[in-house]
Amino acid sequence: MCDRYEIPLIEDAAESLSATYRGRSPGTFGSLGIFSFNGNKIITTSGGGMLVSNQPKLIEKARFLATQARDPAPHYQHSHIGYNYRLSNVLAGIGRGQLEVLGDRVEARRKNFDHYFQALSDLPGLTLMPEAPYGKSTRWLTCLTIDPEVFGCNREALRLALAADNIESRPVWKPLHLQPTFSGCECVGGEVAESLFLQGLCLPSGSSLTAADRDRVIGHIRAIAPRPCTLPREYSL
Ligand SMILES: *Cc1c(COP(=O)(O)O)cnc(C)c1O
Repeated sequence: MCDRYEIPLIEDAAESLSATYRGRSPGTFGSLGIFSFNGNKIITTSGGGMLVSNQPKLIEKARFLATQARDPAPHYQHSHIGYNYRLSNVLAGIGRGQLEVLGDRVEARRKNFDHYFQALSDLPGLTLMPEAPYGKSTRWLTCLTIDPEVFGCNREALRLALAADNIESRPVWKPLHLQPTFSGCECVGGEVAESLFLQGLCLPSGSSLTAADRDRVIGHIRAIAPRPCTLPREYSL
């Protein structure tokens, strides 16, 4: 669609390093792809990120803007507004070291998901994010949705129950159109993002979680969940 309307696609691939979509890496479909190396990502340089493109002109322009947009003059002269968005060479060095553990980290995150899935997927009203058959997720976060009608309590009650035992979980991201800073802006659609925000919860998902940590989370969720239905759905007397 972007091709048809000549819209450049900029991909937010922030958390998807090492994931695949139909055999290709996220971040490689559009004109530009962006990855984050923030402290909470699968691998990190403590902050900063990476911009990728197969169009050298765009990368050249990005480098120019990211390094203060200086005109070719011996003094500091600017015909464009630039930024100081460099990732330092020290941080880049850390990033290269981190690449060596990327596979292990993804494996650990996927293991978190598998464990939660085995232990929770029988609960009515609780749905864990499925993996598409045509892709591989990094499982950066294990997220679930709660249907309060079926589960018996809503997402926030579950979050608070975990917090009461010092277990941090978080609602999935609040959509931009609900952010106060954009209030009053025109908005088209948004219902899907809104319901994910209302029903979605991110479980503890760090690469260093132990099986015992996960079991603690699972124990609390099962304790407030309704019993799984063991009766046959239809039966006659
Ligand atoms: C982490 C993340 C961001 C923000 O990345 P920063 O490097 O913290 O600016 C943006 N989008 C998605 C999908 C993310 O996961």
